[in-house]
Amino acid sequence: MHFDLEKEQRTNAWKSCIDMLEDFYENTEDIPVSGESSREEVVSDLVTGFEKTVELDEALNHVISGLRKHAVHTPHPDYFGLFNPRPNFPSILADAITATFNPQLAAWSHAPFATEVESKLVQEVGVKFGYPRESVDGVFTAGGAEANLTALLSAIHSKYPKFSEDGVHALPRRIRIYCSAESHHTIIKSARICGLGSTCVSHIEADEKQQMIPEALEDQIAKDKSRGFEPLMIVATTGTTGSGAIDPIQKLAHIASEHNCWLHADAAYGGAVVLTKDYKHLVAGIELADSITFDAHKWLSVPMATSLFLTRHKQILWQTFGISADYMPNDETHIQELGSFGHSIQWSRRFIGLKLYLPLLVFGWKGYEETVLGQIELGSTLRQKLLQNNWKIYNETDLPVVCFSDERFAEDPQFAESLAAEIVGEGKAWISTYPIENVLTIRACIANYATTEEGLDKLVGDLNTSRNAYQK
Ligand SMILES: *Cc1c(COP(=O)(O)O)cnc(C)c1O
Repeated sequence: MHFDLEKEQRTNAWKSCIDMLEDFYENTEDIPVSGESSREEVVSDLVTGFEKTVELDEALNHVISGLRKHAVHTPHPDYFGLFNPRPNFPSILADAITATFNPQLAAWSHAPFATEVESKLVQEVGVKFGYPRESVDGVFTAGGAEANLTALLSAIHSKYPKFSEDGVHALPRRIRIYCSAESHHTIIKSARICGLGSTCVSHIEADEKQQMIPEALEDQIAKDKSRGFEPLMIVATTGTTGSGAIDPIQKLAHIASEHNCWLHADAAYGGAVVLTKDYKHLVAGIELADSITFDAHKWLSVPMATSLFLTRHKQILWQTFGISADYMPNDETHIQELGSFGHSIQWSRRFIGLKLYLPLLVFGWKGYEETVLGQIELGSTLRQKLLQNNWKIYNETDLPVVCFSDERFAEDPQFAESLAAEIVGEGKAWISTYPIENVLTIRACIANYATTEEGLDKLVGDLNTSRNAYQK
């Protein structure tokens, strides 16, 4: 089969593909943020069977119009959702370049340039988080989920090196993992995947700012120890998914060292503040963490599957994942030194880091600092506008995550649901709801560099209109 197609066909396809994508990218704000497709409608738009084939142009048209029609458009400036950004332009090109070269990052010798790029980025980002340059190690991962799993595996192997041979039988007692009640569910999933089970995860109470209460953690550890359980890992979430809360890392670091626990900082979202002079103090102490999860695809405006696992323990990844195989090129010294298959859950590995390297070449850390700062400021602007319009803010964070409601309807969970559903349903914006204490709040987050103050005015206006209609 002539999979390459002819040069002329390719030239035309590149061009029409670019035209269609450019039309979406340039005019994203003019289309509804989301549609209301039923499952039947979506399925009836698909082509299946694949007996009859079509020209590439028609196929391109089919997939691009399907994606335009049936999706929540996370790149839309009025998407106030779950940390899914609009990808910056160089990072989009990076994905196309990677697909074309398809470098294999399992081994240094197969992809020296790509491997070195990732290795340098791991170091640079690690240093931004405050790790000493000479001790930073890490690996790009497909997501925060994989990075959190990597953290748990590292914690286990660090304390119980025999785990790689004997599995759970290497554990002397039932172990315990601590995270806040507001932490991400991937911690539980990681525990399940590691064969420890979800009951080993202990959710520690959070205070009225949704931050883990260190005293509650200490109490729980004491209780667990007296029952013969073994504390293994403490997870500090620095920027919770629900309300942008930041756990008190310094205090948690102290408790971790007292009980010989691995401290993991889940900074998937909030970690980006380390790129700003003005806000990096929010995560002061993160350099004390044994490992860090950081998602570039959350707040660094790059396409999905761009995350980092970082650690200040140079040997731990190799200790956890190192393995040799006869069919691998024999470049063990490099393998040990660099983020390759001996460093990762993955085997064949995509050149993930290019999605960060290319925009950094073009915009620099400075460009990222400006972007993150701009979004933090828009978050404050949104809070002010809501307060001026008699909304009440229920969370307390400097990050651009705003959870709000109208105090008169605080007891009525229908209120937030109904307003969010109406605004989303009409394709005006994308917002969600989140429970804080006993109030179901409306949640709006800014993670998009294209979001503007006018967009915030429109959102608040739409919210006011829906509130008025709800009252009647
Ligand atoms: C999003 C998120 C995760 C999971 O990361 P993915 O990249 O979505 O897999 C983990 N922790 C926190 C705090 C998150 O916000």
